[in-house]
Amino acid sequence: MPDPLSPNVQHLKASETVAISNEAKRRKAAGEDVLDLGVGEPDFDTPAPAAQAGVQAIQKGLTRYPPNVGIAELRKAIAQNLGRMSGQRAIDPDRLIVSSGSKQSIFNACFTLFGPKDRVLIPAPAWVSYPQIVHLCRAEPVLVPGALDWGLKVNAKDLDKASNKLTRGLILCSPCNPTGAVYTLAELRSIAEWAKANDVWIISDEIYRRINYGPGPAPSLLDLPDNLLERTVIIYGASKAYAMTGWRIGAALAPPHLVQAMAAFQSHTTTGANQPAMWAAATAFADEKVDAEVTRMVAAFRRRRDMLVERFRREAPGVEFVEPHGAFYFFFRVDGIREKDPVTGSTFCEQSMKQEGVALVPGGAFADDRWVRLSYAVSDGELGRALDKIFGLIHRLAAARAA
Ligand code: PMP
Ligand code: GLU
Repeated sequence: MPDPLSPNVQHLKASETVAISNEAKRRKAAGEDVLDLGVGEPDFDTPAPAAQAGVQAIQKGLTRYPPNVGIAELRKAIAQNLGRMSGQRAIDPDRLIVSSGSKQSIFNACFTLFGPKDRVLIPAPAWVSYPQIVHLCRAEPVLVPGALDWGLKVNAKDLDKASNKLTRGLILCSPCNPTGAVYTLAELRSIAEWAKANDVWIISDEIYRRINYGPGPAPSLLDLPDNLLERTVIIYGASKAYAMTGWRIGAALAPPHLVQAMAAFQSHTTTGANQPAMWAAATAFADEKVDAEVTRMVAAFRRRRDMLVERFRREAPGVEFVEPHGAFYFFFRVDGIREKDPVTGSTFCEQSMKQEGVALVPGGAFADDRWVRLSYAVSDGELGRALDKIFGLIHRLAAARAA
């Protein structure tokens, strides 16, 4: 028997999204024809000016330990980028701390805020890493189911019902992974008012903010007045909208005392983010050509979203789904495909991988295995081929019911 591991990792499970991505890559490398609609990773290359800035940083010898909160140029570029999206709001770069991907920013924020006995509300379905991160802080994740007729979003009443005096935090994600739902500003305001009245910290994961299909970027907590933002952490990053997943650059905007604690924590863990990647991201967040490229990528995601919604309505009319307004995920329900012996997300994804060569993520990874998540951050051609196969599987499973 191996030695028991620390209670720190008693709930720890590897990320299903990362595992499915690894499996799809392994199959592809082995020569299998796999369509990877599992992982949430843009199919586009990093915009050239950003990539060049990274290369130049290496060539200029900017390869030493960085300031552990991030280089000043990047903090300023992120502050201005966030400010531009929120009506030229002035944002103090000293309130930003850069980390190795926004996953680390979320971890740092949770670890410095939450501990044993604290309860942290997480609207569900929820991105796979939130409950795990809360467990790693030895706090308790409390899933709050969203309403089906409301894009699986929650409101202040739902949060209030799920809350008690031990509730210390809320992790909000808009645009949402895995549903693509987007909270309106009025919805965010009412949640922020509830959180303020109850002394609850909000960690607002806005990594997909630029990937919004309404006009402009998605509504943000930063569109609300200062008095509602005293206990908030805004999470942002380069991975998604800037097609920079592998560079690992994320950031948290937080009150000064929390930035200080996260910086101290980071000084003992990673020392800070990768310096050349920070230079690349500084260009990404500031450069007009990159901005135009982001606009083009968002337009491509929107076109794919439209194609998906239209095809699901036409070719699988009984299948329920959340209509996405942002991010690049499509969440559809599989338990209704067959009345007897309802199909689970896990069964559906296993069959789609084994029989169709299409990688998808079971809803169970996001706390509801009646659903399946599809990432449409793939080329139009791959998406079209994958949909043919997915509809084939849906129709076969439905016919098995009739038989
Ligand atoms: N938040 C959400 C909602 C995500 O989907 C992801 C995807 N990885 C992350 C945070 C983390 O992204 P990264 O660490 O690449 O910045
Ligand atoms: N966030 C992406 C996803 O949900 C990438 C993988 C991960 O970090 O979870 O697929």
